[in-house]
Amino acid sequence: VDWWKASNLQGYAPICLGLEDFYIRRLYLRIQDCFGRPISSPPDAWFDVVERVSNDNNKTLKRTKKVSRCLNLGSYNYLGFAAADEYCTPRVIESLKKYFASTCSSRVDGGTTALHAELEEVVADFVGKPASLVTGMGYVTNSAILPVLIGKGGLIISDSLNHNSIVNGARGSGATIRVFQHNTPSHLEKVLREHIADGQPRTHRPWKKIIVVVEGIYSMEGEICKLPEIVSICKKYKAYVYLDEAHSIGAVGKTGRGVCELLGVDTADVDVMMGTFTKSFGSCGGYIAGSKELIQYLKYTCPAHLYATSISPPAAQQIISSIKVILGKDGSSRGAQKLAQIRENSNYFRSELQKMGFEVLGDNDSPVMPIMLYNPAKIPAFSRECLKRNVAVVTVAFPATPLLLARARICISAAHTREDMIKALEVISRVGDMVGIKYFPAEPKKA
Ligand code: PMP
Repeated sequence: VDWWKASNLQGYAPICLGLEDFYIRRLYLRIQDCFGRPISSPPDAWFDVVERVSNDNNKTLKRTKKVSRCLNLGSYNYLGFAAADEYCTPRVIESLKKYFASTCSSRVDGGTTALHAELEEVVADFVGKPASLVTGMGYVTNSAILPVLIGKGGLIISDSLNHNSIVNGARGSGATIRVFQHNTPSHLEKVLREHIADGQPRTHRPWKKIIVVVEGIYSMEGEICKLPEIVSICKKYKAYVYLDEAHSIGAVGKTGRGVCELLGVDTADVDVMMGTFTKSFGSCGGYIAGSKELIQYLKYTCPAHLYATSISPPAAQQIISSIKVILGKDGSSRGAQKLAQIRENSNYFRSELQKMGFEVLGDNDSPVMPIMLYNPAKIPAFSRECLKRNVAVVTVAFPATPLLLARARICISAAHTREDMIKALEVISRVGDMVGIKYFPAEPKKA
């Protein structure tokens, strides 16, 4: 078949499957024997050493081995803050001069500077909760905080496509874990009914606590959570709601406040709001926001707060400054423009891909756009052919997705211009024809 020949893929099938175990290695060596020559690493975006070109808003990647610039369609740089910014960057540099790169201390051992205190106030205010706690890493926020919130005797009901950090946090908690069908409120209700008798008061249940864990925008699906329905089911069955907003905070909602704002959900109805600063804010770290009592409790008990070095001060400053820009507190309308731009870009790119006949997952307004490839062996063909034409896309497969649901995942940024997107669409369309992944008839172009 053409795509197979086009990319000389044979040797890469084991890698595409994402199965790096002993047997796959043996299979790989056998294939290598058959070809009578070593098979080198494929030049995919995921294997290459790249430099981010941050003075152009992280829009392009520079491949260091073979110097060429590629349009970056893989970064979570939703608002274009992963770059030099006229308001944020001077302040980050100032904070570096004042505090340097690290406190080299945990929050409770002298690692709380004035910036850390300010950051937690700014974040709580931004997400609409009374208090927040910030950690140095988003992944750890889920994996270390879930085990503090719930343990043996508790029940976690988790969306089937929740992120690995949630899965690990849930497993580490010792609570009983049940999974409901991805973003399907009726199935969540079914699972809840199976685990609690009708009308049973919270104190008489077999569970010490029930937490339902969902994401705002699903990172591999680009889908927006059916939060209003989920919140009302949780109210009915008196379960707590834990919402991971890694991909939605700062990216959606009229003022960037995430899915609650987008879908009109009262933040008071979401018990634990989690998110990361590695996407829309161009920084690093994660947060939990909730009631004052919850955050106070976490500050005394959470290992990621007690035993881990506090977030780097310049990273904290970047978050504070970018939130100020988003809210217009820098005295400009750049924040509002960025929010309008990410929405326009996302909806334009998604609809153009659909018109071309691709199967694109996710919802309007979501900057995450998975293009279905299905066959895991098409992964390197797609990403390599795009890369040859200077468009860098991230491809994902098992174990990040089910084995036969491989996809290319496009992340659109407010920093992409219309010309960038037109160029990317042309490349994706050509490669899509070559690899055979246009599953629907293309819409005729309007004259
Ligand atoms: N939650 C979700 C839904 C994610 O997609 C990610 C990573 N992309 C994380 C948590 C972990 O965040 P970080 O990369 O900031 O550590």
